[in-house]
Amino acid sequence: MRTWTPPELPELPGRGTAPRLYNTAKSRLEHPAIPDDTARLYVCGITPYDATHIGHAFTYLTFDIMQRAWIDAGIETVYAQNITDVDDPLLERADATGVDWRDLADEQIGLFRSDMFRMGMIPPAHYVAVTESIDEIAGAVRGLVERGFGYRVPTEDAEGDDIYFDVDAASRESQWRLGDVAPYDRATMRELSAERGGDPERPGKRDPLDPLLWRAAREGEPSWESPVGRGRPGWHVECSVIATRALGGAFTVQGGGTDLIFPHHEFTAALATALSGTPLAHAYCHAALVAYQGHKMSKSRGNLVFVSKLLDSGADPAAIRLALLTHHYRSEWEWFDGDLATGTRRLAAWREGLERVSDDPASSAAVLAQLRAALANDLDTPVMLATLDAALDRGVDDPELLRDAVLSLLGVKL
Ligand code: ZN
Repeated sequence: MRTWTPPELPELPGRGTAPRLYNTAKSRLEHPAIPDDTARLYVCGITPYDATHIGHAFTYLTFDIMQRAWIDAGIETVYAQNITDVDDPLLERADATGVDWRDLADEQIGLFRSDMFRMGMIPPAHYVAVTESIDEIAGAVRGLVERGFGYRVPTEDAEGDDIYFDVDAASRESQWRLGDVAPYDRATMRELSAERGGDPERPGKRDPLDPLLWRAAREGEPSWESPVGRGRPGWHVECSVIATRALGGAFTVQGGGTDLIFPHHEFTAALATALSGTPLAHAYCHAALVAYQGHKMSKSRGNLVFVSKLLDSGADPAAIRLALLTHHYRSEWEWFDGDLATGTRRLAAWREGLERVSDDPASSAAVLAQLRAALANDLDTPVMLATLDAALDRGVDDPELLRDAVLSLLGVKL
């Protein structure tokens, strides 16, 4: 799938260090392994039915900043992202609005691409839609069934069977164990499964948590012929296949919002391990969810603030980035309508500060070192912003260097 034009990334003197990151799977800060000096990052992409809201932007910005940290540390970075362009919410929305699901997906992917470009996000090198990968995904489902990790559940409303992943078999016979990624107890997992696309109540399953691998074709739903019957893939196996095809096994970071920890990242890891014998990733990093009007921003509640609307109303993308980067990626926070104005004021102050002639300017080289130290410490953008507030309030000795540093490390164009 076509991506978008990459942002300008000025090279800075010297080098930063690879960031220490919080690994959800281990509940601790660590330096994830970077095999062959190449950081490989997979971030779960959108289901294209309701384009980029501030919560999405915060997640993708987190992993944009992560890559900037690696690049500044001289580490090669390979980034992959999927598009879940066939899934229940997309089909439901298409149905409800009388639009063909493919047209809705195309339109929303286009909008997302344009939002990402305008926001100066580093594009993935591998940008892969599920509909481009059906054969590979069906092949993986067949492989799981053959290895005894997948089983058929008869259906009442389809000709073929649905296929489920056997959590218990995988826990016994692969290197993966339930809870390897998600630090939750079983009761919480069951609750989250019901909330986030799973079907714990479905009769005929061996374990309520077992996730769907392949959905047999239903009347009126898109479906494809495959060696496991006519149908379409389940959500988790898509990402297992797209991620490992793009990045190989045991890549550096699997990323997404915290709402993906369970079941999505748990089972993406489980399926990849059951298929290949290799763990999916070294670390699992998650960006906190953003609230608006007192509740988590969500499509179901409809309390969404769209990036495209802010941009179309004249917001400077750099001001939106600053409004988001005020928050550490692991802190839950609420978007207020005044946040954009605060970001805009800060941006103006920084631009003014670069021009400031001072008798006692801050050393731009010293500020760059402080920025790098904060970035290496679990992407501490609030400290970076505070450092820049202080330096630019005082004036700096090398405005060009600082302008490049802010653009390269934060993606903020002064
Ligand atoms: Zn995913």
